[in-house]
Amino acid sequence: MIMHEVNSLFEAMRDAIPAGPVRIKEAVEAGKKVVGCYCAYTPYEVIRAAGAIPVTLCSTSEKPIAAGEEHLPRNLCPLIKSSYGFALTDTCPYFHFCSIVVGETTCDGKRKMYELLDRLRPTHVMQLPRTYRGTDALSSWQAEIERLARRLETELGATITEDGLRREIKKRNEERRAMGELYELSKLDPVPLSGRELHLVNEFFRVSFGDPQALDLVRELVRRLRENYEAGERRVPGGKRRIVVTGCPTGKSLEKVFNAIEENGGVIVAFENCGGIKPNYEPVDETLPPYEALAVKYLGIPCSCMSPNDKRLDLLETLVRDYRADGVTDIILQACHTYSVESFLVRERLGNLNVGEREGIPYIAVETDYYQGDVEQLSTRMGAFLEMLA
Ligand code: SF4
Ligand code: SF4
Repeated sequence: MIMHEVNSLFEAMRDAIPAGPVRIKEAVEAGKKVVGCYCAYTPYEVIRAAGAIPVTLCSTSEKPIAAGEEHLPRNLCPLIKSSYGFALTDTCPYFHFCSIVVGETTCDGKRKMYELLDRLRPTHVMQLPRTYRGTDALSSWQAEIERLARRLETELGATITEDGLRREIKKRNEERRAMGELYELSKLDPVPLSGRELHLVNEFFRVSFGDPQALDLVRELVRRLRENYEAGERRVPGGKRRIVVTGCPTGKSLEKVFNAIEENGGVIVAFENCGGIKPNYEPVDETLPPYEALAVKYLGIPCSCMSPNDKRLDLLETLVRDYRADGVTDIILQACHTYSVESFLVRERLGNLNVGEREGIPYIAVETDYYQGDVEQLSTRMGAFLEMLA
């Protein structure tokens, strides 16, 4: 592989994101099937073992929200309205090419939206036990993963074998490891890359569709960033307030929050959210039978739809310690009840946390949506929060 400078690697990733739909169109023309996914609970390995490409459909654009509101209530989370609006107007190229969509019974808004989505595209809903405690939950989730496999076999005319699953588990674990090595870099102080650059790589990874060359690009970036750092290069100046971002899934429209942090003296050291560390920090156990291994892994994702959800609090505590965070920013989408209610517990856990000399980790919850009308207000609030940390 040609040696790229760090900035040109970021550029290559930035350019690859809008090219994603073209790559999917070409794959479909070459005979591949595409399966739409809305959640970190979808076991990609099963879809890939069926020879299909899993694509993420969770939308973070405000554009299709008005269309979505024609069928959905206005006081619903923007992620659900936007994702549904794209499907309804057939303006999402990824949705357009999907043969089938997979959803899970996570939050109430999403699971009811899937009933409407099924009219637009066959939608397979996995019944997610909303607890990761107990063997009953695990065995019922394993049965759901096996049920998904049978449905995919029928819909796609494919055969899913245990060997195929093992192969895909291994590949997906490699992807998680590569991303994990990237996340590790931000434990350094000062960080070798900004949070906005980290987010760019997350977005790139989202549309890499298991392409080994994309993974090579991530590995090359990590290697160059580490080498340059060890040689003394400081791309991000020291002295910035180190922030862990948590909460609802992030994306394009929420970059306004990242800007508010990084333009006011902060730097994001970790994204706990879906699309960041949450779905990637635990690999699938390659020594277990594949369906059991997938059940253990995916049921353990600490989304706020789980009750209780102490794993998220534990993960946040670990991130705060490992990344030496000065504060935590919780992004809560309007009308997201689960993350909104859980905010109390997150604040409480962080408030009781002692790290080194510090007693309690400062926390701010930011409630927002996909519109850009609150950019200035966000900047003012984050500015005050970061000043308080200083
Ligand atoms: S936050 Fe929860 S419901 Fe939303 S995408 Fe992640 S796992 Fe799914
Ligand atoms: S952000 Fe909250 S309300 Fe929206 S889909 Fe995720 S869990 Fe549901």
